[in-house]
Amino acid sequence: MRIIDMHCDTISAILEAQKRGERAGLKENTFMLDLQRMQQGGYSVQNFALFVEQETGISSYDKVMELLSVFKAEMSRNKDRITQVTTTGEIAENEKAGRLSALLTVEGGEACGGSLDNLRQLYREGVRMMTLTWNDPNELGFPNYSEHLDFYTPDCERGLTETGIAFVEEMENLGMVIDVSHLSDRGFWDVVRYSKRPFVASHSNARAVCPWVRNLTDDMIRRLAERGGVTGLNYCGDFLRDPFAGTEKEGNQTKPGLSLAGKRPGERSRADLSDLVKHARHMANVGGIECLGLGSDFDGIPPYAGMPKAEHMEKLWYALAKGGFHEGEIEKIFYGNVFRLYKDVLG
Ligand SMILES: [Zn+2]
Repeated sequence: MRIIDMHCDTISAILEAQKRGERAGLKENTFMLDLQRMQQGGYSVQNFALFVEQETGISSYDKVMELLSVFKAEMSRNKDRITQVTTTGEIAENEKAGRLSALLTVEGGEACGGSLDNLRQLYREGVRMMTLTWNDPNELGFPNYSEHLDFYTPDCERGLTETGIAFVEEMENLGMVIDVSHLSDRGFWDVVRYSKRPFVASHSNARAVCPWVRNLTDDMIRRLAERGGVTGLNYCGDFLRDPFAGTEKEGNQTKPGLSLAGKRPGERSRADLSDLVKHARHMANVGGIECLGLGSDFDGIPPYAGMPKAEHMEKLWYALAKGGFHEGEIEKIFYGNVFRLYKDVLG
């Protein structure tokens, strides 16, 4: 069993813990993912996101640099077990040497402050994938969550800005994977229009199965698949089974005060592994098996009972097998499809 996981927030979790004065690192920690858990779970490659949101008192670019220094320090501290990679050749070398691979990504295009020079600098640091937005509008475009926490109504009007279109083009020139997770519906179709190469939704599920706007519609899944892209199964309970299903909603809005899934612990979904299998089956039916990958969102989501930590990946393997996926198909979901996309875009 080999695994490539397109998204986790462990670097942010380490930085926050260090700021609280706790000893926390990548080798071993109390979070959802560390190197020991990855080795136990059968990982080959983990994408480590540098996650930025608009904060007061620090620019997004400074914040991404702060996270980058945490990432680099962890890489140098653990270089016998894991090294940073930018190509599939380097992944293969690490596998041969019995080491894990770390691919650096950015979550939140505001990291660049709208500057293509900053984008190129991040590329030089080894960033090879970036979501154009997180949950706030930024210089590049608009997200699908609106300011008033509406989980159900996608933004079909506001997509990429002119700057966002320039970023899409430059990311493709550089050989950086465009990531549409968190982006508005309109933004997704703008990416389809202005890009030429395969792109990803690193951590998004199927909206037909769970209606949250963080998930992809069937049309999106089909288009992403036709382009050779991959969408990563996200283990966030709220994106797997609607926690408010059957409860009263005012119009399309959830009640104020409910948690925004993804970054704050709060509402616990009752989702279990069978929900993850349902999403996988639906996406495979709609887009074909080749468009499915993994995007756990470990350390960015509330604990999910179905698969709480990285060492539990075998549970997902068996659940998919029980759900009728053949071994070769599960290998594609766990590893092959994302590796193919990396070979296409990163080399
Ligand atoms: Zn996210």
